[in-house]
Amino acid sequence: MFPLLKTKIEYLQGVGPSKALLLQQELRLHTFEDLVQYYPFRYKDRSQLYTISQLKSSMDYVQLRGTISHVQTVRTEKKRLIARFKDETGEVTLVWFKGLQWILKKIRPSTLYTLFGKPAVYGEHISFIHPELEIFVLNRDDNYCLFPVYLTTEKLKSKHVDSNFLAKLQRNTLTKAIDHIPETLPDQLRQQYKLMDRSSALLNIHFPKNHALLSQARRRLKFEELFYLQLQLLQLKQVRMKKRQGKIFRAVHLLQSFYASGLPFTLTGAQKRVVREIYQDLRSGYQMNRLVQGDVGSGKTMVAFLSMLICIGSGAQVAMMAPTELLAEQHYQSLQAFAESMHITIALLTGDTKKKKRNEILDALQTGTLQIVVGTHALLNAAVKFKELGLAVIDEQHRFGVMQRAQLWTKMSAYFPHVLVMTATPIPRTLAMTFYGDLDVSTIDEMPTGRRPIKTVHYYDAQRLKVFQFLKKQMAAARQVYIVYPLIEASETLDYKNLIDGYENICRAFPEVPIGMIHGQMRAADKAYEMQRFVKGETLLMVSTTVIEVGVDVPNATVIVIENAERFGLSQLHQLRGRVGRGNLQAYCILMTGDQLNSKSRERIQTMVRTNDGFEIADVDLRLRGPGDLLGVQQSGILEFKIADLAQDEKILQAARIMAQQLMQEDAALLQPHNSPIRAQLECIRSHKMHWSSIS
Ligand code: ADP
Ligand code: MG
Repeated sequence: MFPLLKTKIEYLQGVGPSKALLLQQELRLHTFEDLVQYYPFRYKDRSQLYTISQLKSSMDYVQLRGTISHVQTVRTEKKRLIARFKDETGEVTLVWFKGLQWILKKIRPSTLYTLFGKPAVYGEHISFIHPELEIFVLNRDDNYCLFPVYLTTEKLKSKHVDSNFLAKLQRNTLTKAIDHIPETLPDQLRQQYKLMDRSSALLNIHFPKNHALLSQARRRLKFEELFYLQLQLLQLKQVRMKKRQGKIFRAVHLLQSFYASGLPFTLTGAQKRVVREIYQDLRSGYQMNRLVQGDVGSGKTMVAFLSMLICIGSGAQVAMMAPTELLAEQHYQSLQAFAESMHITIALLTGDTKKKKRNEILDALQTGTLQIVVGTHALLNAAVKFKELGLAVIDEQHRFGVMQRAQLWTKMSAYFPHVLVMTATPIPRTLAMTFYGDLDVSTIDEMPTGRRPIKTVHYYDAQRLKVFQFLKKQMAAARQVYIVYPLIEASETLDYKNLIDGYENICRAFPEVPIGMIHGQMRAADKAYEMQRFVKGETLLMVSTTVIEVGVDVPNATVIVIENAERFGLSQLHQLRGRVGRGNLQAYCILMTGDQLNSKSRERIQTMVRTNDGFEIADVDLRLRGPGDLLGVQQSGILEFKIADLAQDEKILQAARIMAQQLMQEDAALLQPHNSPIRAQLECIRSHKMHWSSIS
C-alpha cells in the first residue's frame, strides 16, 4: 500500500501545482508528511483578550477588540498606510508598509474587529505594524483557544499562502491522515518516559485543545527529534570505529624544518596541544574525524597547516574547503606564504577559476604534482580527482551539510582521507558531544599572546556624529574601518537599500577617504577585487553586509561598526567582532542601535560589551534563544531542529541520549521486533536526507 503520508501536497484541496511548487521552494514542503511536521512557531492565544489601557512595551502578541477609523495614506520617505484602532479604553495606531491597496479595500468602518499583533510602545504612543485583523464574530464555533501561527515568506504571502492558509491545510491534512500516522517510538519506551502517542502529538502541536496537551505534544516531539539525532550520531560513530581504516601518517620532518625556520611566531600552548591530538589521530591507523573549535583569532589556520605538513611529508595531498570564495581566497593567501617557504605546491580552485587554469589544476591533482588545493565546494565536483588525498580540511563546517562532507571522503578509492573540521562557532563543551557526536573535538582555548582585548562600546543612532569623529581619528592614523549592515533574507531588497543609503551617507561624511563596498549580490570577482583593495590598504573604509563575517583577516583594520546591531544574533555579533583585533593594535567594536531595545536585544548588546569570551557568549546565546526562534537557530547555523531547542531541552536531551545508548548496546542492528518502528523511521529519515542532498 502506498503510504498516505507520502502523498504530494498538490493533491490537497486548495493547493494545486503552482502553490505546491512554491511551498516546495520556499519551505521545502513536498508531502503530507512534510506538512504535518511543519510546526507552528507560536500560537495566538484566543483565551486572553486585552484592552488598550493594559498594553505594555514588554508584551508579546496580544488580542484586542475594537473598531478602525481614519484610514489614510502617508507619504514620508516610504509610502505607508495608517489608521486608528479604538476600544473603550483608548486608541492605538495601525501601520502598513506593504499591500496598501488590498488593505484599503478590505477595511470596513464601524465594524468590530479582532486584532492580533505585537504592540510597539513609544512613550504614550502605541502602534501595531502589520497587525492581523479579523472581523469579530459573536459565538463563533471555535474549539481552539490556541490557534497556530506558521512562518511563511514574503513570496508565499504574495500568493496568499499565509499562516491562516497553512492552518487550513494542516487541518485538512490531519483530518485525512490522522489514522495513517505511524508510531515511531516503541510502546515500551513511550511508557517508560510517559510520552504521548504520535498521532495525538501531531494533532495537538497544530491545534492544541489546551496548554497542558500542547506541552505534552511538544515534549513527545522534542524527545523524538533528539532521540533520532542521537541514534544517528551513535551509528555514524560506530560505523566509523568499525570500518574506517585510515592511512598512517607519521612523517614529521617537514613539521620539524618548518618549526626550525618558517614559523612566524611561537605557537600557543593550545595550538601545540591540538596539533599533538591531530598527530595522534593521523598515525592511529583509523580515519581521523576531528573538529577543532577555537574562537575567532585563536589561530586555527596555523593548526591546519601544521597538520597538512604531516600528510604532505608522507607524500599525500591535502584539500581545504571554505564556505565562500572570499574565504577560500584568504586561506589560499595565508597558506601560500607558508607553503612557498617550504617549496610545497598550492593552488586555488573555485567556481570562478578560468577553464585553462582549472584544467591545469585538475591534471596536477591527478598526477600528484599539486600538493595543496584550497577551494570552495567546487572541490566536490566529480571532475576533481586526486592521486592520493590524505587529508580534507573543512573550514566553518556549519555551512556545509554532513552529506557534503561525506562526499569528499569518497574521493579516495584506496582508503578514506582524514577529515579535519574547523569552526569558530564555540559551543559549550557539554553540548559539543551532541552537536558533533560523530566527531572527536579539540578546543583551542587560548589566544596568542600580545593581543589586546577588543574594546566594545554601544552607541545609539543619535550619537552617530561622535562615532564618525572617532572613525576620522583612526583613519587619520592610517587604521582601517569596517561598517557592517545587517542583511536578513526575509527582506533582502529593503536591507539592500539600507546598505546603499548607508554607503552614500558615509561617502558624504568622509569625502576624502577612499571607501569600498562589498555585498552578497556582487559577482565573486568584484567582491574579491574590493576585498583586495582593502587588504592592500587602498581603501580605508569598507562598507559591507555580513559577507565579511567569517575568517576575513586584515590586521590593520582596528574598528568595526555594526549598524542595527539589535538585529543580529549574539554569535553573529561575536563573529563580526572577530574581524578586528587580529594584530597587536588596540581594536574597537562599536555597536549602533536605535533607542528602543527589547529586553533580549539589550542583553545581547550588554553581553557583547561585557565579554570577549566566545564560550561565555555561546552560553548566553543558547539561553536567550527562545524555543520558537527559528531564525536565531538558523542564523547561528549550528544545527536545524524542527522543534527541539538545546537551550531549553537539556533534560530531554539527556534522556534521549541515554535511551539511544541503551538501544545501541542492546540491539545495535535493530533486529528485534519491538524495535522495528525505529528501524522504519531511520530508513525514512535517511531517504529524506538523500533526497535533499541530491537536490541542493
Ligand atoms: P582563526 O582561528 O580565527 O581562523 P587565524 O588562523 O586566522 O584565526 O589567525 C588569526 C591571526 O593570528 C593570523 O594573523 C595568524 O597569523 C595569527 N596567529 C596565529 N597563531 C598565532 C600565534 N601563536 N601567535 C601570534 N599570532 C598568531
Ligand atoms: Mg579562520
